[in-house]
Amino acid sequence: MAPLLEARNVSKVFSGGLFSRAQNIALDDFSFALEDAPPSITAVVGESGSGKTTLARLLLGLAAPTSGSVRYNGKDLRKHSRAEWRTFIREVQVIFQDPYEVYNPFYTVDHVLKEPIRKFALAGTKAQGRALMEEALTAVGLRPEETLGRHPHQLSGGQRQRIMVARALLLKPRVIIADEPVSMVDASLRATILNNLRQINRQFGISILYITHDLTTAYQLSENIIVLYRGGVAEVGSVERVVQHPQHPYTRLLVGSVPLPDPRRPWEAAPAPSALGREMTAASCRFADRCPSAMPVCIEVRPPLYQTNPDRAAACYLYDDAPAMATGDINQVFVGEAAD
Ligand code: SF4
Repeated sequence: MAPLLEARNVSKVFSGGLFSRAQNIALDDFSFALEDAPPSITAVVGESGSGKTTLARLLLGLAAPTSGSVRYNGKDLRKHSRAEWRTFIREVQVIFQDPYEVYNPFYTVDHVLKEPIRKFALAGTKAQGRALMEEALTAVGLRPEETLGRHPHQLSGGQRQRIMVARALLLKPRVIIADEPVSMVDASLRATILNNLRQINRQFGISILYITHDLTTAYQLSENIIVLYRGGVAEVGSVERVVQHPQHPYTRLLVGSVPLPDPRRPWEAAPAPSALGREMTAASCRFADRCPSAMPVCIEVRPPLYQTNPDRAAACYLYDDAPAMATGDINQVFVGEAAD
């Protein structure tokens, strides 16, 4: 059976502008499949410029790939009929970083909930619409009587973001793409929103793609992780394996830079990059200019993903005694997924 949502050999290249020949490869030959069952939570982690936001936009159909395809229910989004597209935009919901942008300050927050009900004709009467809104708000732990009728500025950032989760839930989606959903929320409220996401994954069987720069919340929420670096996969696999025992030098750097709760343990200083990295070309390992372990082969040709454990692969020659994987096979190392 075809995966529910799939990126197949997707690349996205941005040109440098009208008078520039420079090109920015935001995503390079990326493949990933989100299966319908079991409902999963996968984190896509990377720093700014890693390609994670481009990936979110491609998966949502908000941008077209330069090559490759994004498929829903096995069909290229570009070939969807109007009816199939309508199904797609209902079943694949997004929660963005800044919920405030979605709200109109002149309307009460009811407006953002009523709009999908109207657009997708979810209720026959006002009372049915109200019941749906109350049900969705309750599912994310908000009290309808304390939420409906309020203006956005009368609610906290955390409450506004939970309303966006409720809004997505109204449509009974099969996938939620959460793009940095807690990065603008106070630390004290982050756990509540992450709990909401975990709960709706379990209770409603909705798969979640959690896109973030924050390794800590990725670890707290997800089962599997894809670490992106400059548009390519650096390391992928079970979140437990990758975060607890990182292999790729970039993942090690990320893990080492996470602030630790124990003040006696200093943050790990980043090791100095190898001088070889200065010879980096477009064909080299993407991390060569920052890597302390760069070798001549890293400069010559980009490494494939090596499957170093049943539940993990790393794109690094330090592990070239492990079997190489095709880029399209990253799902094989995810926990909770049926192997082919
Ligand atoms: Fe470093 Fe080479 Fe591994 Fe790239 S392939 S991360 S340059 S050791």
